[in-house]
Amino acid sequence: MTSVNEATASRLPTVLIVDDDRVNRAALAEALQSDCRLLLAKDGESALQRLREEDVSLVLLDISMPGMDGYEVLHLIKSDPQRADLGVIFITGQASEADEERGLLLGAADYITKPVRPTIVRARVNIHLKLAAQRRELERLSREDWLTGLANRRSFEEAFARAIRGAMEHDQPIGVALLDVDHFKQFNDRYGHAEGDRALQAVARVLAEMTGRSGEIAARYGGEEFVLLKSGPHDLAAFLDEVRTKVTGLGILHEASATAGVLTVSLGGVVAQAAGLDTPAALLRRADELLYTSKRDGRNRVTVAEYVPAAG
Ligand SMILES: [Mg+2]
Repeated sequence: MTSVNEATASRLPTVLIVDDDRVNRAALAEALQSDCRLLLAKDGESALQRLREEDVSLVLLDISMPGMDGYEVLHLIKSDPQRADLGVIFITGQASEADEERGLLLGAADYITKPVRPTIVRARVNIHLKLAAQRRELERLSREDWLTGLANRRSFEEAFARAIRGAMEHDQPIGVALLDVDHFKQFNDRYGHAEGDRALQAVARVLAEMTGRSGEIAARYGGEEFVLLKSGPHDLAAFLDEVRTKVTGLGILHEASATAGVLTVSLGGVVAQAAGLDTPAALLRRADELLYTSKRDGRNRVTVAEYVPAAG
């Protein structure tokens, strides 16, 4: 809306209003313009198009529209797994209980009857925006490691499975590596667990900085172990060595380390070609063996190998 400045608008949740009647669209927009960023659509096709392009928190959907009606739009929204959780409020023309029932059975979150009353619209919309925000927050928390803010193991495993499918589809190599903080138990014993947590957070910040591009993921795998994923052609050994150097460069004092006076990490990584791709578990097992090699050879080092699938 032009009445809302862009800086404010970018923080407001986005609501999509779908109604074939210009006067109704304007009435709904007027009621909601101070609470949200608004998108308007006059038919089902353009509504679905907007949903593909924009990050929408809630949809107000007219039932009766020429062409694709509201039921059909709702059905298409709910049958898309990516959008099945999206809140949809039905706008029913006449106070028809049958319409309301059908809409709710199809998965609508609520309904509003026309003619719309601004205070009711605002109240209902705000309730559903609050629910949508809570849902998003839960979703975020369920994918994030609480200590470091990196992806957690569960969300990494989903991303890894997707990346393997993508690598096979596009005939691209994929690299995966495990990173372990050297002598971390001794670090905790010497400096305490709060310092240990801060050290893990500092390592995580390095990993987050190093994995900003698409196809790159860093996650906390558990304890002081992290996992890195890099899709497409690249020099995994050079990448991992930069990670290692940057962690050493943090200069986190570690007087109990037998390796160096500062906190260091050991890494093991595999590069798999699309043709030789195996299960995520097999690739991680191999990365873990190579990590062990780095540990055995003195820590604060990187070991990388081409992945060779087991025969048979
Ligand atoms: Mg209509």
